[in-house]
Amino acid sequence: MTEDRLNTTGYNQQEDEDIELKLRPAHFGEYIGQEKIKENMKVFVQAALGRGETLDHVLLYGQPGLGKTTLSGIIASAMNARLRVTAGPAIERPGDMAAILNDLNEGDFLFIDEIHRLNRNIEEILYPAMEDFVLDIVIGKGPGARSIRLDLPRFTLVGATTRIGLLTAPLRDRFGVVHHLEPYRVAELATIVTRSAKVLDVGMTPEGAEEIARRARGTPRIANRLLKRVRDFAQVRYDGIITQEVAKSSLDMLEIDPMGLDSVDKKILLAIIEKFGGGPVGLDTLSASIDEEAGTLEDVAEPYLLQLGLIQRTPRGRVVTRLGYSHLGLTPPALAFAADEQLTLPLS
Ligand code: ADP
Repeated sequence: MTEDRLNTTGYNQQEDEDIELKLRPAHFGEYIGQEKIKENMKVFVQAALGRGETLDHVLLYGQPGLGKTTLSGIIASAMNARLRVTAGPAIERPGDMAAILNDLNEGDFLFIDEIHRLNRNIEEILYPAMEDFVLDIVIGKGPGARSIRLDLPRFTLVGATTRIGLLTAPLRDRFGVVHHLEPYRVAELATIVTRSAKVLDVGMTPEGAEEIARRARGTPRIANRLLKRVRDFAQVRYDGIITQEVAKSSLDMLEIDPMGLDSVDKKILLAIIEKFGGGPVGLDTLSASIDEEAGTLEDVAEPYLLQLGLIQRTPRGRVVTRLGYSHLGLTPPALAFAADEQLTLPLS
């Protein structure tokens, strides 16, 4: 989702994927930030290796691009394990899930992205597989149907999700380790883009790195994408080095503002203000009014607007805050705000 929004400036997808692969950290030392999670995982890995056991199942949740896939690859390689990658929407039938599980070897890691999108009947196959490492298969149909139980090798399931709230309790409870990935600080993102610039062999000043980091919405994937775009400007319009000035003017051209808001974020704020009198407005109504998918709004745009304090969630929907108005250079209607302030009880 995030990718699509930023993928409008000329890169083809294959090129993007190749670069992304090069930039993806391969071990803990290259994985910046998320210190607590890293320390915990290192201990679990060391303990499991010491006992000669597989690692407990791990659930990673957080917004897209925060490093869930990367981290699972790092953990698998620290365990010297093979990583199998799939995604919730790709597993359509219970038979698909059974086939994936049946194909695992002892110690393998199975990464399921967007695990909240697994159908319930597919999810149910996972319960005994995760808990007892067995696969229950029903053979035949009708009165003659019988169930057989197959043993599975011990494996580690790593589930990733952007929506922990959509996970069923029985599935969530079967993960021994649950980690929430938080947005990154500007200094961490600056370190990430500095490393990426080296990998891509682009010259960049520390100020240039910081300018990109500030506009990257706390997300490493976005930071790397902005870096690639700015690199193009630096090469074509300047002398190839990414200075603060180069980063600033390139990102302005890409309509990424100094706080990292892009045209979609602005469209959201403006729609709430212009079409719904500043809110409150429900997510579905809002998404229909600006023709953006509700899921994208909820996963990508809204968390960042909330984090910056430009919008607020109220029991009756989203409202634009005073800060939101002033960020757009607009004056909030005084009267509406007096009423809103009594309503703005944070939801969660
Ligand atoms: P997610 O699975 O959460 O959507 P990814 O693991 O695919 O996110 O991360 C996207 C990209 O961001 C990676 O390819 C990598 O280049 C970069 N990245 C993510 N987390 C980190 C990190 N902690 N340190 C350095 N780079 C990171």
